[in-house]
Amino acid sequence: MAERLFPALAAAPAKNAISFPEHALDYTELAAAAGALARELKAAAPGRVALWATPSIHTSVAVVAALIAGVPAVPVNPKIGERELGHIVSDSEPALVLTEPGAKLPDALAALPRKEVELTGVPGELPEEPDEEAPALIVYTSGTTGPPKGVVLPRRAISSTLDALEDAWQWTADDVLVHGLPLFHVHGLILGILGPLRRGGSVRHLGKFSVEAAAKELAGGATMMFGVPTMYHRIAGEVSENPALAKAFGSARLLVSGSAALPVHDHQRITAATGQEVVERYGMSETLMNTSVRADGERRPGTVGVPLRGVEARLVDEAGAEIEGSDGETVGEIQVRGRNLFTEYLNRPDATAEVFVDGWFRTGDMAVREPDGYYRIVGRKATDLIKSGGYKIGAGEIENALLEHPGVAEAAVTGEPDEDLGERIVAWIVPAGERPAEQDLVDHVARLLTPHKRPRVVRFLAALPRNDMGKVMKRALDG
Ligand code: ATP
Ligand code: MG
Repeated sequence: MAERLFPALAAAPAKNAISFPEHALDYTELAAAAGALARELKAAAPGRVALWATPSIHTSVAVVAALIAGVPAVPVNPKIGERELGHIVSDSEPALVLTEPGAKLPDALAALPRKEVELTGVPGELPEEPDEEAPALIVYTSGTTGPPKGVVLPRRAISSTLDALEDAWQWTADDVLVHGLPLFHVHGLILGILGPLRRGGSVRHLGKFSVEAAAKELAGGATMMFGVPTMYHRIAGEVSENPALAKAFGSARLLVSGSAALPVHDHQRITAATGQEVVERYGMSETLMNTSVRADGERRPGTVGVPLRGVEARLVDEAGAEIEGSDGETVGEIQVRGRNLFTEYLNRPDATAEVFVDGWFRTGDMAVREPDGYYRIVGRKATDLIKSGGYKIGAGEIENALLEHPGVAEAAVTGEPDEDLGERIVAWIVPAGERPAEQDLVDHVARLLTPHKRPRVVRFLAALPRNDMGKVMKRALDG
């Protein structure tokens, strides 16, 4: 029989498995509810199922059931717009949709047969699980750089990534995770829900994230938190002013950030107030997790640590040659290889062929490697690498510098065509209170970094365009 993804479901330790503000399930209850649904799904053998992924315990039960039934599930963002939903439904062709009871569905999903997830079930045998190469989840990418692509994830990608994180984060059954992320992407669903369950630990989902609610869980014995940089930005602001909150975040065993770069300034503010150093990891839908700062390693702000166990990483130059050595300066594309990789983009053999070279996956992310092997991401090849005046400049470094200016609340840097320079650096700034003088921002960057990295154009706006994970949608920024 193939390996079970969640050994704790059969062992049923007497402890909380998942809780949301309204509901909680211990391992016996979760095994009963997910087992009953899994037997039903397996008997119906529906092909793919869509998962209306509200931040709820029902979504959590549904995903566990689909995984143990071996029925590939497609998580759908409940705030999704019509056009994107139409694309996902016609692309993935789900035979039915799993929802919480009484969910109001948009037309494209309401037209499908619906199965409402129940929290009780008759205890019984858990079905035999399929081979490790069987497709487990189809997760659509965030659509940061183009229309979302359906990433087909086999079971071994999930098990190997979660087990590599066990090693990197010393993650055990005793850990209690605080969770405030949505459940339709890798971060919130695979790491945040499936991770604790694979370890036989517990997850407490806040329903909706707030700094106070997260602090309350940490003060009440939770050991870890996963978050995106926009959450840590709010935490940085509040812990600086409230010692009780600072103490709660300081008591965590591990605070982990991912999905986008954590600004160095926020990392440092959190450390100053709480004594806690946030651990940053780097991953994507196609590869699950690639690198992380280790729990027992040095926590260096602005870096994403070292390749996880079982993951090979390399930097490649524009000609496709591997960059040898680690000088902390030479920028290359990160390519990765390992059991953590996806199988293919759904219905996109062209796009799939484009991203693989000799078994290596081209992430499209650019990075440097420091002498001790730590990776530092400088940005995405498509949007964050600016070729200006003969230099290749990463947007991230300039964004970090701008965020250190007291007049800047949020910053994004892009390149736009320039007759002289090839591309000129544009800074998009959300002011913190009064608008700072443009020249002041330009001088600040020139002083902290080097003059050729200074913005040539500064544009102010009220908010940066961000998606549900708080990622800046740079393709929506134009003059
Ligand atoms: P699309 O592929 O549709 O444009 P996306 O790449 O944002 O969207 P995801 O797969 O959800 O979709 O996100 C993966 C990307 O997020 C990575 O390729 C990387 O650019 C970014 N990322 C994740 N973690 C980090 C991190 N710690 N630091 C910097 N960037 C990160
Ligand atoms: Mg991507």
